Amino acid sequence: MSGKQTTISPDKEGIARAADILRDGGLVAMPTETVYGLAARADRPDAVAEIYRTKGRPDFNPLIVHVASPEMARKLAIFNSAAEQLADTYWPGPLTLVLPLREGADIVPAVTAGLGTIALRQPAHPIAARLLRELGIPLAAPSANRSNGVSPTHSDHVFASFGGQSPPVLDGGACDAGLESTIVALDTDGGWRLLRPGPITAEELTETLGPPEKSRGATIEAPGQLKKHYSPGKPVLLGRIRADQDGFMIGFGEVAGDVNLSATGDLAEAASRLFAALHQAAASGCKAIYVAPIPAEGMGRAINDRLERAAAP
Ligand code: AMP
Ligand code: MG
Repeated sequence: MSGKQTTISPDKEGIARAADILRDGGLVAMPTETVYGLAARADRPDAVAEIYRTKGRPDFNPLIVHVASPEMARKLAIFNSAAEQLADTYWPGPLTLVLPLREGADIVPAVTAGLGTIALRQPAHPIAARLLRELGIPLAAPSANRSNGVSPTHSDHVFASFGGQSPPVLDGGACDAGLESTIVALDTDGGWRLLRPGPITAEELTETLGPPEKSRGATIEAPGQLKKHYSPGKPVLLGRIRADQDGFMIGFGEVAGDVNLSATGDLAEAASRLFAALHQAAASGCKAIYVAPIPAEGMGRAINDRLERAAAP
């Protein structure tokens, strides 16, 4: 891998070039509507190993596989009717389905960390969608940052996280949703459980499928949901209305700050700005990061989930 910071422009030629790199087993950081993903083909052991190595990611933390279409997904997993309904309603989009892995699916065991299930998503971002269509191969893609770091919503964040180790970045500007996908596990009996809150809210899912099953064993079944994650490398203090003298204040609504996630109190806007604010706070000279209270409703639950893990000691 080159030590240079290479961006690829997302035109026809650039997408063809990114597809070539991926086809040959290389890594490319690609924009999605959630965050930038560190993509590699999910059917090649060397390519998948390079994802874990580049991120410094523990191998018990499985990867999400990105597909070009529901048809591609059905070759990899067994869809029950609830899964079909969710894919029908929310794909392409920021919803990941954890489903039984289909026997004989051409997926490297390291992708699923040896589990009998696989996490699948069809991204809506036009660049990711074109790349997947052109390539025709499922792509494993965790967030394009060193393990435990703050997720990237801009190509600069990818370069800042990997430095000279950075893969080429297909540059799509800022990501829309700005938070990782919602993850839902579907059980064989038709029930569902939320494994990770995200842009598709629990309220929306309940509207589509009815109420979830009581959460059971979520820590075992979502091995990557580590308590400490998204660490900006300095203390994070939540639910504050002002910062101490040498603190960086992340505001929300009427609580002002060095940056404000959304002056109008819009949770979707706040989600899209959250990681950029944490990157900015991390890069500032301030010793600690103070964050305004965020309401625990709708997408606010996903924002608080990320903040609590950024703040975990
Ligand atoms: P990331 O792509 O880094 O945002 O993380 C993907 C997350 O998806 C992991 O941390 C896991 O929690 C979750 N995941 C991936 N595959 C599975 C699976 N087979 N079962 C449960 N959770 C999964
Ligand atoms: Mg991540």
